[in-house]
Amino acid sequence: MAKVVIVGAGFAGHYGALILQDALKGKGDHEITVINRHPKFTYIPSLVWVGVGQMKAEKTQFDLKPVYDKLGINFIVGSVTEVYPDDQKVKVEFKDGGSKEVEYDYLMIATGPYLNFEATEGLGPEKGHTSSICSPPHATETASKYLELVSRLEKGDRAKIVIGMGHGTATCQGAAFEYICNVHNDLVDRGLRDKVDILWLSNEPKLGDFGIDGLEAKRGSLIYTSEMMAEGLFYDYGIDYEIQTHVRKIDEKKIYTENLEGEFKEFEYDFAMLIPPFKAQPIKYIDKDGNDITSEICNPAGFVKVDANYGKPYEELDGPDWPKTYQNPKYKNIFAAGIAFAPPGPLSKPSKSPNGTLIGPAPPRTGYTAELSGKAAALNIAEMIQGNDPIHTASMAETPGLCVASMKNKIFGGMAATIAIYPVARNYAEYPEYGRDLDMCAAEIGMAGAWFKLALHYAFLYKLQAKPFWKLIP
Ligand SMILES: Cc1cc2nc3c(=O)[nH]c(=O)nc-3n(C[C@H](O)[C@H](O)[C@H](O)COP(=O)(O)OP(=O)(O)OC[C@H]3O[C@@H](n4cnc5c(N)ncnc54)[C@H](O)[C@@H]3O)c2cc1C
Repeated sequence: MAKVVIVGAGFAGHYGALILQDALKGKGDHEITVINRHPKFTYIPSLVWVGVGQMKAEKTQFDLKPVYDKLGINFIVGSVTEVYPDDQKVKVEFKDGGSKEVEYDYLMIATGPYLNFEATEGLGPEKGHTSSICSPPHATETASKYLELVSRLEKGDRAKIVIGMGHGTATCQGAAFEYICNVHNDLVDRGLRDKVDILWLSNEPKLGDFGIDGLEAKRGSLIYTSEMMAEGLFYDYGIDYEIQTHVRKIDEKKIYTENLEGEFKEFEYDFAMLIPPFKAQPIKYIDKDGNDITSEICNPAGFVKVDANYGKPYEELDGPDWPKTYQNPKYKNIFAAGIAFAPPGPLSKPSKSPNGTLIGPAPPRTGYTAELSGKAAALNIAEMIQGNDPIHTASMAETPGLCVASMKNKIFGGMAATIAIYPVARNYAEYPEYGRDLDMCAAEIGMAGAWFKLALHYAFLYKLQAKPFWKLIP
């Protein structure tokens, strides 16, 4: 009997657990245990709508326990703080101060990001002055602040809104882009847009970069880019933008920035939603002699090293360097998936200001990538349990990315940008001209995208509750 422990029940870990349970059906009496900090799964993409007050956070969540009970998976609500790879056990801490150890034969780390608000002075809703849509409580609080601002606008006030990235190395530009578009359209619908100046503040090297080095798509004989799309949209929406920008600090009234030219600027704001940079969840790895070996297992940001080629400069990094099986090279029974795995480098070009400040998006591992890597890791664990080598792959340089960026959440008159890329990480070894197959790339804005986005919300929540025929939903 094999014991598998999955830490984290987000897109990577929860989907990985469903896939593993299915793969091991009828193949022996194995034990799967999922350990997650919260009792609920959150469909994070819909937090964009929570942040504008158009959806309650509860609508993005479901209880994990009934799903795991149905499938015979053990579930522990707690935080893993230490991993003992030689002794094959993890330490779980509970909210009440208690703790316990859980043994494993195979371990999947799928803990997502730690929201590193501390990286920028004054950033974030807890100790700073800005809002966030990165967790259900943050998005709920953001909605109340936004609606408070709306009532001030209704009384005749004017306001400055800043939305974007809260640090020079932050990622998840797509979420902030969705939020700025939804805020714009919500204010238009309320007849208040003319009372507000909206600014997009971002570390992207180009508008429309989204941390994925932008996108090119064929339009007849023309090549249409995500830069053209974002530029056209911001022009139509009357949104100003400052890109190639690092946020240095924030106080109650102003955001202080530095850009790639080395210029220091200040922006006044009444309401700001800025995404923090991500680092890994704080988990320590300890060997059999009690030594802290975290730096051997993880990269400096704490993300778990897997089968990638690490250490290459951006210019030399290519498709074959991206991980395929998500297996840790030192401890072969440890896998990492989703945001928790260490990428070999960024997708977008990083640069330094004349003052030496690094400005460039860290590589996103989006929901779909998280699911695919969680699935590959789970199937590889199932192979190893049966005495085989890990053969299942889901390299970001060989798999597609699909992002439906909501702009206006309405059944009639809604709008979304549907962005498809293949592959996510440019792979010049395979596609010498663009690093991507342009016949498989698309960027379209329209109402169909809004329906698709809403359908994704319900389809994912259905699939991830393992309801009948869940496996048919990709
Ligand atoms: C506002 C927003 C909108 C987004 N929109 C999109 C979108 O439209 N499309 C898209 O593809 N992606 C989108 N993303 C990105 C997507 O949400 C992430 O890529 C995805 O959630 C990553 O999945 P994950 O499983 O790696 O991490 P998470 O989903 O963050 O899951 C990690 C889980 O691990 C748990 N955990 C953490 N540490 C521990 C610990 N020590 N012990 C136990 N449990 C722990 C956490 O509580 C959490 O449940 C969006 C992100 C944001 C913030």
